[in-house]
Parts: sequence; structure tokens; C-alpha cells
Amino acid sequence: ETFADTADRPGRPPEDAAAPLGANAVAELEALATRHLVQPWESLEHLGQEARTLLTGAEGVYVRDARGNRLIDGPAGMWCMQVGYGRRAIAEAMAEQAMSMAYNSPWYSTSPVAAELAARIAEMTPGDLDHVFFTTGGSTAVDSALRFVQFFNNYLGRPEKKIILSRGGAYHGSTYLSASCSGKERDKVYLDFAKDLVVHLSAPNPYRRPEGMSVEGFCDFLIEEMEAKILELGPERVAAFIAEPILASGGVLMPPPGYHRRAQALCRKYDILTISDEVVTAFGRLGHWFASEAVFGITPDIVTFAKGVTSGYVPLGGFAISRAVVEQVAGPENKGSVYSNGYTYSGHPVSCAAALANIRIIEQEGLLEHVREIAPYFQARLRELEALPLVGEVRGLGLMACVDCVADKQSKNPLALDKEVGGRIDAHCQELGLVVRPIYNMCVMSPPLIIEKPEIDRLVEILRQGIERTQDDLE
Ligand code: PLP
Repeated sequence: ETFADTADRPGRPPEDAAAPLGANAVAELEALATRHLVQPWESLEHLGQEARTLLTGAEGVYVRDARGNRLIDGPAGMWCMQVGYGRRAIAEAMAEQAMSMAYNSPWYSTSPVAAELAARIAEMTPGDLDHVFFTTGGSTAVDSALRFVQFFNNYLGRPEKKIILSRGGAYHGSTYLSASCSGKERDKVYLDFAKDLVVHLSAPNPYRRPEGMSVEGFCDFLIEEMEAKILELGPERVAAFIAEPILASGGVLMPPPGYHRRAQALCRKYDILTISDEVVTAFGRLGHWFASEAVFGITPDIVTFAKGVTSGYVPLGGFAISRAVVEQVAGPENKGSVYSNGYTYSGHPVSCAAALANIRIIEQEGLLEHVREIAPYFQARLRELEALPLVGEVRGLGLMACVDCVADKQSKNPLALDKEVGGRIDAHCQELGLVVRPIYNMCVMSPPLIIEKPEIDRLVEILRQGIERTQDDLE
């Protein structure tokens, strides 16, 4: 049995897949990576000193390192590997597209696959969000959506309506404007941001709500804060509210029940556009194509997507926008209306072909239903870890979860603890066969959607051991 033969059987990697490289080759490649690569969020203090993790293969829910170790991919790459690695159907769709037409200029043309994909996404999105703009990933999706909002208000003759409301703990990308919406302290060191354009509200993190406040009271607090901020700024100056349904890299923060509906009602009241950043939550992560309406009961004006749309096989992102909004600036009566924003690779045919093949797999294998069925088990098993002394809270929904570590459960204070505790847990887990996504004192888990119960059991068992070993280290 070869890798190719078994590749479309998710979660069952052949033992002989991707033969490990020889020790010399590994050492040489690691040295090249250490010497020449600058990685995202690179610690330049350690540049050229720390060995890189070299991955050379992947199948199903597993990645394989250069020494032949097989690890469960706990974070599904970066929340993107939905259907699992080694899918021949996606690879073939990409190869066929590359052979028949590797590229088309979006300046004057489109492709059958881009047309079909736009129509599919228009069906999946809530309400009348039936116009789709393609970009190259999540950051450019958010950036393009925000620039659409700027264009929209400028064109409608209200250039003062510019301010974007975001939240603490948010992450929306790494372009200038999307990064300006980030509410994470880590992302604010030594970089400049469009401070005049973005205002941050409190992080909707019920676990760290003010002392003595109920969760319902916390929701009231967040909504009252939002309304007060809109009135302070002046509704005529506030253009958009951007929100991840669940703040993903902020640590899987789950806003209190009713928060999104109430925030959307405020936006409607003050004529503010709502952007739901579904770069992480769409394409099955919460058991639905999009989560805004299906899970949170809201119909935003714009949704952004990326990652899971191609299961990470090739970059693609975009946003869908409501007909009601588009119609205000489109059509023959809107002379000179031009949305001057785009990319060489907008609607790239190879990416669109990969996305369509990915969507077919999700449908054919019933992966949305699978996530809805298996998620309660995943969440329940992970919640068992709350019994460990180091674990303050385990939270999550669908196939996204976070283990939040604290120095003591009473004060919930993460800062009293070594802030790199997530990294330590990850290091132990990698030795045991699991990749963790560490964020300071938190471990985020968002495995491929194809995960089954035995792999969940293994994931939880390794994570438990990793946390216990870290606890021992700290003592
Ligand atoms: N929006 C959200 C919610 C994200 O989590 C991310 C990335 O993690 C982005 C946007 C940026 O996407 P990308 O890294 O594809 O540019």
C-alpha cells in the first residue's frame, strides 16, 4: 500500500508514508532554515540560533517530522486543515486546473471555477450576502472588506464615517489595516498602526469578567460600553464593527449568550456595518459552512473567509457582502463608482479549483454533520483537564477549544505564572506525539474535522501528560 493509495482515507496514515530523510540531510536542511528563513512572529533575538521544526510529510490528522516522528496536528496547521492531509482529489483538481489554465487576469476575465465557487459561497452565507470578492488569504480578506467600507462611505458622501470598532483579544490579520484591528498586546510591539481609524472595546471574555459580575451582567456591560463608545465618538463617525464570532487566537474567547445579537442590533440602530470575521469559524469548524447565523443568530453585512475554504492546500480568502449594501453603490445610476482594490491573484483559478474539491469532500463525507456529532465528545473530554491544578478553564465550541492555564484558580491570574507555559506544554506534547498551538499561558486545539474518537482520546491523553510534566517543571 502506498501513500497515494491510502491518501483518501482520512485519519489512517500508512506507516511507510514519507520515508524520513537521512540524518545528514536533516541537519543540512535545518541549518539552511536557521540561517536563511525569517518566520512569522520571529523572535529576532534568537534568529540563527534556534533549530526549526522541519516537517516533511502529512497524512490524515497527522504531520510527520524530518526524523520520522508522527504527531497529531492539534491546531490543524493554523486552524485551516479541515479535510485532512493527503487528499488526492484536491491535488488532482489543482493539477488539472494548472494544466488547463494556470492563471487568468482578473483585470478583464474570470474562470469557470471562480464563477462556480462564488455561487457556492453565496448559497452558504447567511441572508442576502450574495456578492463575493476573492483575495489571497485572511488578512487580505479583512483588509479588502474594511476598504470596501471606506469606499462605501466615501462614495455616499460621508467621508467622516471612518472609525472601525474592534475588541481586545481580537486578531484580524497582518496587513496594516487588519493588524490595526488586532487587540492583542503581542502584536503591538514595535509596529505602527492606524490608531485614528480603530477603536477597541473590551474583550468579551466571560472567564475574566470583572469580579462579582454575573455572565448576564457582563453581557449588559459589554453592550452598554459599546453603545456609550458609539455615542461618545458620534454615530456619524463610526463605520463598522468587526468581530470574530469566537475570538480564535485571542484564546477561543466565547462571548456571553446574546452578545452578537445585541451588538448587531446596536449597529443597525446607528447605521454601522457589521463584519463577521469567519476566517476561522467558517467551513465546518463549528459544524456549519458559516457560523454567524447558524450558531449565533446574526446576519452581518459582510463575512470574511479564508483558511478552511481550501483546507489550507493553497492560499485563498475573500469576503461576501450583502446585496442591500452593494445596491447602494452599484448600477447605472451610480456613475463613477469604482471599488479600487484588488490583487493579481484575486480569484486564482488553481485556488478556486482546490476550494471546490475541498467543498465536495466536506459534502460527500458529511463532515459538517460529523463535526456536530463529535464536537460534544471533543469538548467533554477536554473539559476533564479542568481537574488539573494548572488548568483554570477549558472552553470552546465545535472543534475549537482552549485550555487556559493559571497560577491559581481563585485569582485566575495568568501573569503570576511563567507566561511561556503554553510553549512548555507544547514542547512536552511534541515529544509525546501531539502538536499544540501555544499562546502565552494557553493551549489552543482545533484539529482537522475528520478526527475520530480514538484520536481525540489520544490527543487529550497526551495533552494531560504534557500539562502534568509542565506542572512538575514548575515545582
Ligand atoms: N482573521 C482571523 C479571525 C484569523 O484568525 C486570521 C489568521 O489567523 C486572519 C484573519 C488572517 O488570516 P491570514 O493569516 O490567512 O492572512
